[in-house]
Amino acid sequence: MRSFFSKILISNWLFLVVLLLTAIFVLYITTIISSTYYIILFISYLVFSLYVAFHISYKIAESVTEQLRALQERTRLINAGEFNSAFIMTNISELSELSLSINAMSERLKLQFNALNIEKEKFNLLLENLKEGVFAIDKEKRLLFQNKSIPKLLIPEGSQSRTIDVIIKEKKILQFLNQHIANETEGKINIELNKKFYSIRLYSLKSDDKTLMYIGVVLDKTEDRERQLLREQFVQSASHELKTPITSIKGYAETLDSKLKLNPKSNEKKFLDAILRNTDRMIRIVEDMLTISKLETANMVFQPEMFSLKELVKNIEFTILGFLKLKGQKFIVEIPNDLIMYADLVQMEHVLLNLIQNASIYSPENCKIGVRALREEKYIKISVWDQGIGIEEKELDRIFERFYRVDANRSRNQGGTGLGLSIVKHIVKLHSGWVSVSSIRGEGSTFTVNLPVDNLSSG
Ligand code: ADP
Repeated sequence: MRSFFSKILISNWLFLVVLLLTAIFVLYITTIISSTYYIILFISYLVFSLYVAFHISYKIAESVTEQLRALQERTRLINAGEFNSAFIMTNISELSELSLSINAMSERLKLQFNALNIEKEKFNLLLENLKEGVFAIDKEKRLLFQNKSIPKLLIPEGSQSRTIDVIIKEKKILQFLNQHIANETEGKINIELNKKFYSIRLYSLKSDDKTLMYIGVVLDKTEDRERQLLREQFVQSASHELKTPITSIKGYAETLDSKLKLNPKSNEKKFLDAILRNTDRMIRIVEDMLTISKLETANMVFQPEMFSLKELVKNIEFTILGFLKLKGQKFIVEIPNDLIMYADLVQMEHVLLNLIQNASIYSPENCKIGVRALREEKYIKISVWDQGIGIEEKELDRIFERFYRVDANRSRNQGGTGLGLSIVKHIVKLHSGWVSVSSIRGEGSTFTVNLPVDNLSSG
């Protein structure tokens, strides 16, 4: 195979040689013919030269453009995904390199394309057969994909390419999706649809920090919810059933105590006191369990109202000072006079009493315990601080778990149930807030209740 460059060079040289020979021949002829034929001879020479030059150029150009056109057609087909189009053979070495590269590229693309197709099929099969419902929405709120596990009530079958405003009838879900798509955020919502419970999570798919689409995952939580309800009902019934006998044991023990008038130093009196102490503790545990159960099943009526936080603390100060006095502890209140809250007053009292009681229990005698509050731009922060034993960092996450106690004996001896902080966490969550804690072992702890202002002011 000859290179295109040498082909043009040889053709040009041959053409020059032919022109030279013809010119010599024409010069020779002029010596033997009369001068009247000179002009005819010269024109014939010119026509011949032009014809040969044109013919050679045409042939060269034709041979190249034909093969270039074939290559161009091949690349167009590859671009269109036709990887099996015919292999291009060329007799120009420069083009044959290009042709080989195009063929190799086509083969590689074909392999990659097939591998991608297989992966896509696998992914689609997986998505289709997932137990969880999955859907995708683009930024223009059009449904791109839905698998068959999506509840029909949520998104009817075959809704692809239509906008969610048209296909989703459930207002709460539509509002949730619209809000997150408008703010380009992710989120979660729990919803009851036709006696079934679903949890919907929305994720955003981003590239270069730009949201491309949103993926929704729908989980059927009906069974979990039913199991949870059964568990909660069991705890509620068990607590109710236990409350009556325990209360009557306490009643009998108190009657015995007052009737027998036992010697305070006698063993019988110690036993009776132990019975009374333990029945009190059992009553507290049962009551705390009932409170948690009511908070979880949302049986607890949430009745928000406007009140001054300082007034609330004043109202419970008598009770607080009652138990602080036993340990000679001082109570310090730093709450702005104008701090007005919109929350459930009884539940907030419960939260503060619980935290202040803990502060007192887990602090030594004669120390200070305080409540401070401030209103920030988005949150009202209420902190209960103490100068007590503190909590180790590794325990901080666990103390809000039910029945978790850092020192179970100490808590029991102080009449603790291990449920107080769990109740606090639940109540604050009901107010759309959260509780945080900071503590240094041996120096003290600060529990902070963070309540969103929005929630508190609008109700
Ligand atoms: P308890 O009835 O045992 O006080 P809580 O749920 O109120 O139960 O508290 C859980 C545990 O957290 C307590 O047992 C205690 O170990 C720890 N704790 C709570 N408040 C404080 C505090 N102010 N200082 C130190 N430890 C605390």
